[in-house]
Amino acid sequence: MPQTLTKDRIMEALRGVLDPELGSDVVDLGMVREVVLDEGVVTIGLALTIAECPMRGQIENDTVRRIEAIPGVQRAVVKTRAMTRKQRSELMEVARRRARENAAPTRVPPTTRTIAVGSGKGGVGKSSVSVNLALSLGRLGYRVGLLDADIWGFSIPRMLGTDARIEADPATRLMQPVEAHGIEVVSTGLIIESEETALMWRGLMLSKALEQFLQQVAWGKLDYLVIDLPPGTGDVQMALSRLLPQSEMVVVTTPSRTAQKVAIRVADMARRSAMPVVGVIENMSYFETPDGQRFELFGRGGGEALADSLNIPLIGAIPLDPALGAGADRGEPVVVVRPDGPVARVFMEVAGRLVGLVPPADAETCTGRIAKLLAAL
Ligand code: ADP
Repeated sequence: MPQTLTKDRIMEALRGVLDPELGSDVVDLGMVREVVLDEGVVTIGLALTIAECPMRGQIENDTVRRIEAIPGVQRAVVKTRAMTRKQRSELMEVARRRARENAAPTRVPPTTRTIAVGSGKGGVGKSSVSVNLALSLGRLGYRVGLLDADIWGFSIPRMLGTDARIEADPATRLMQPVEAHGIEVVSTGLIIESEETALMWRGLMLSKALEQFLQQVAWGKLDYLVIDLPPGTGDVQMALSRLLPQSEMVVVTTPSRTAQKVAIRVADMARRSAMPVVGVIENMSYFETPDGQRFELFGRGGGEALADSLNIPLIGAIPLDPALGAGADRGEPVVVVRPDGPVARVFMEVAGRLVGLVPPADAETCTGRIAKLLAAL
């Protein structure tokens, strides 16, 4: 059922725009001063703490992406201005209250960009893409986490070749992510070891399990958190947009046109829950022989058609490579064991493009000084 475009809907989407340093969203912080709907054009008036804010570009871009992801919106226009002294003191009051209550909804740092990887159906290589993309972001020098939200269909531990166990810190009772190939990893597969724990987890709803992973894990100061979603649409996807409204999605599909039809449902669902879909990754796009001949074994154009119909970029086309599958089976990810190989090169390009679309949050922001002031109070 199509939802009508209302101011409430816009405000809900704006809750996904965070001020990375103050750790709250722009709605909570009182930065949204005006919302004007004119047919499909939405104008948002934003008040920033300081006019020449270095974060201005990022906040504006995030706002536009969030709003334009809402069905029915043709264009978003952002008008920024500086807060008045009174507005600034109100913002400080909210931030102070937040700090006092320690009311952050999850333990994922507000400076972390969260990228959910989804697919219409299983077997298209969503987990392989999540793993190799996360590792490639790590190779680019970013601090990366990988959350396996495919609670029962988990395959990440096997692909990373880790049999480490997640342990809880006795003092904080928080789970410590496992480290594998330089990234932080959390998966149900790294927890379950005995019948009792399995039963305990099985009793939890999927969305509850995700909540635990977001709230009870001591995630480090990550630049990116890659989230491998279960295939299809469902509870986990809904829970994610509720728990981590700053999440954005990448959809994995294959070149076949039928895969594209199922993938579009996932993207639709994401948009309905105000999660922007940043791009499409086509997997198993072609097979290349050592002498450079390409064979398109699974058809062609599925990724591009999906990206076109969603009006988002095709971020990359990953070749079919037996080394990728074999590496996953042996727990030796292809981008780690063959860093100069053709697949790794494609993954590095894809990671680079993703960073371009969703740049890491700047450490030093316009509200940085205010945040430091607050910390000193
Ligand atoms: P999903 O998470 O979508 O269910 P997986 O990542 O588990 O899919 O991949 C399904 C199978 O396809 C796995 O055996 C994996 O190794 C293999 N595979 C995925 N992508 C490729 C690729 N580009 N080249 C070769 N094999 C691949």
